[in-house]
Amino acid sequence: MKIISKPSRYFNERKAPIDMLVIHASPEPTLERTLAFLIDAIGVAPVSAHYVIDRDGTIYQLVPEDKRAWHAGVSEWGTMTDLNSHSIGIEFQCPSPNTDELGTFTDEQIAAGIELCRDIITRYHIPLENVVAHSDIAPGRKKDPGPHFPWDQFVKAGLALQHRHPKT
Ligand SMILES: [Zn+2]
Repeated sequence: MKIISKPSRYFNERKAPIDMLVIHASPEPTLERTLAFLIDAIGVAPVSAHYVIDRDGTIYQLVPEDKRAWHAGVSEWGTMTDLNSHSIGIEFQCPSPNTDELGTFTDEQIAAGIELCRDIITRYHIPLENVVAHSDIAPGRKKDPGPHFPWDQFVKAGLALQHRHPKT
């Protein structure tokens, strides 16, 4: 698994142990723009994520896993809150065909995502009910990773529970 370091300055200290994995999709047209948002926060409030997976399967690490990245926003899951403190956030580079729609994923990036998720879930013993979509924890506000994310492949790999896509 090849991981390239691209440090973001946007993180702080965790207030909870890692027990959650949040899947995102970045609709930006290019990897460079996605990284610009997550590393330099161009034009928006500071945001970040631990990992970004490009279309060719290259994995970029922006924030150390033991730090609290800023990807979940206002969100909750069951009785859990401050999900940034609980989770590791992974962004898949996923250009949107238009502003109302979320794009598709490549086989290469899903293969890389499965490998990375298996590693993280194993190392932190993350319960599968806590492997979630951004849209699961911020329904009504967030739609990513969207209807094309292949949850079935993650279920088959033993890395997620059956997942219902939210209405888009
Ligand atoms: Zn998201």
